[in-house]
Formats: sequence, structure tokens, C-alpha cells
Amino acid sequence: MVAPPSVPLLLDGRALADSLRTKHAPDVAWLKEAGRTPRLVVLQVGADEAAQAYIRGQRRGAEAWGLSYEVRTLPADSGEAAVRRAIRALNADRAVTGILLSLPLPEGLGVRALQHTIDPEKDVEGVHPENLGGCFRGRGLLPCTALAAVALIEMSGVALEGAEVVVVGHSDIVGKPVAMLLLGRDATVTVCHKFTTGLAAHTRRADVLVVAVGKPGLIRGDMVKEGAVVVDVGINAVPSDEGPGRMRLVGDVAFEEVAPRVAAITPVPGGVGPVTVAMLMRNTVLAARGIPPPDDPNQLPLFAH
Ligand code: NAD
Repeated sequence: MVAPPSVPLLLDGRALADSLRTKHAPDVAWLKEAGRTPRLVVLQVGADEAAQAYIRGQRRGAEAWGLSYEVRTLPADSGEAAVRRAIRALNADRAVTGILLSLPLPEGLGVRALQHTIDPEKDVEGVHPENLGGCFRGRGLLPCTALAAVALIEMSGVALEGAEVVVVGHSDIVGKPVAMLLLGRDATVTVCHKFTTGLAAHTRRADVLVVAVGKPGLIRGDMVKEGAVVVDVGINAVPSDEGPGRMRLVGDVAFEEVAPRVAAITPVPGGVGPVTVAMLMRNTVLAARGIPPPDDPNQLPLFAH
């Protein structure tokens, strides 16, 4: 007898993003009534082509959430002092409740130094060291993509306590914060990166696999444990079959090979991406109303079954 093909739970990021918006709609209404409409200002230096898709997503997100949103563009040849001045002006502007420094910056500008200039209470991307440190405790304005990955794992219903979690990718903005947040849930966390030897031996042990690298097809079917939960953070543009010059987006996971083996998986597009934008909006709302205390229901866990 041939076993029927297994159907994994597709972790629908758009549905999760909608539920986050609905959950926070009363906060937005309350803030507007109080004359404190959350206002996110994105500062870009030049207009990097690759960043524009994220900016379009943010604008759509802000519209859907009813938040005020503006992109300010400095000339591509602005020096670091000029960018710092622009950030300080936003820090001082009481009407601005959220600040995002769009990446990548033109060469020669110090990304970290500039991110550190952002007022941590307006740092809605969670890139200031104070907020990155918040990942240790799971509170504060936490990095949006890391929050999105955790929320999608929660959506799968997997029990994290004692689970083997493998995170592939150790960037400051995705891999490390995800690992820290999942340690906070008492998972056993392994972090792999480009210098890890025998990647497959690690990924095959994972009950929960989070991949944030930027290499299409890095994770193949035989690298994943049967019944695992897989969160694919990667976004890669690859040539599409639809004709010369046409591109399509894929993740880091070979979806067709991996999906039949696993219990739950995020699609690309439509997985982590929309939830990242929703988390950015959520952080903008939290920044406008003040970070909730640890026992507030708006803290983690993020997804209620
Ligand atoms: P990054 O370039 O800063 O980090 C990449 C990480 O991958 C590094 O830790 C590196 O050591 C690791 N790596 C590289 N080659 C590897 C290999 N062969 N095996 C194992 N690890 C390897 O990237 P990032 O900013 O963390 O982003 C990672 C991916 O996630 C990118 O595709 C990016 O576009 C995507 N991303 C998506 C969202 C979203 O909202 N969906 C948000 C941020 C980033």
C-alpha cells in the first residue's frame, strides 16, 4: 500500500499578520482618540533598489493599521554627521513615535553607530543595543523578524520547552535574536552559520528549524527531520519560468522537497515577510503607548490559539 502524501500545516503569515492587526486595533483607536496617532518615519540615505519592496510593504502595513507613515530621503552622498543629525531631529520630534533607518546604507556610513543614535524608545526595528539586550528577557521593542519567526512557531502549536531548535544564520538582526528568544522559551538551541561543519547533522536533529541565510535551496529534503516545524526566513529572487528576465521569490528551504516531510512550514512569499511588517507596526503601536509591563497580554506569547 502506498502511503498517502502527508500534508503539512502551512503557516500562513498573512493570516497571522491580520490577526495581529485586529488584536491591536483597539490600541490604535485609543491612541488616536488621545491625539497620539502612532507615527513611523523611515529614514533612507539614497534609495537602494532592494529596500524599496520592504518600504512598499511597510507603507501598505501602516495604511492597514491606520498609522501615520513617512519616508524621508537624504542624498546618497550624505556624510555620517548629517545622517546622525537627521536621526537626532527625529528623536527630538514628539510627534514621531517610531524611527527606522533603512538598510543598506551607502558605503562609508557606520551602520551600527547610526543605529545606536536612535532613541531606544522609538527604535521600532529593535536594532539598538538596549533593545537587542531585551531579547534576553523577551521584552522591549524586539527585532521584528525574530518576533515574526517566534510567532509563526507558536502558530504551529509545537511545545518549545525542551524542544531541539536549530537556527541556521547568526546575524545580529535575525539569527541571534531568534536564538535568544527561543532560549527564553526553554528550548535547547543550536545556532549554525557559515563556518559550521556538517550542517545537515545539526538540521536533522531539529524539532524546530529556523533558517535565515539568504541562499536558495540551502536546506534540502534529506536535511530535515520528519515531523519538524520549519520557518524559512530567507528571501531570494531567482529567475522565474514565466519568461526571460522574470524573477520570483523563494526562501532558503527547498520547499517542494521539505514540505512533504514536515509537520508545519512557512511559505515564501507569504510566511515570515508579512508577519515582520506586522511586528514593525505592533512595535510602532507599543512605542507610542509605552512598553507594556511583563504581565501584559501583549508580551509574548504572541499568538493565541
Ligand atoms: P546576513 O547576511 O546578515 O546573515 C546571513 C547568515 O547566514 C550569517 O550568519 C552567515 O554566517 C550564515 N550563512 C551564510 N552561508 C551559510 C551556509 N552556507 N550555511 C550556514 N549558514 C550560512 O543575513 P540576514 O540579514 O540575517 O538575512 C538572512 C536572510 O533572511 C536573507 O535572505 C534576508 O533577505 C532574509 N530576511 C528576511 C526577512 C523577512 O522579513 N522575511 C527579514 C530579514 C531578513
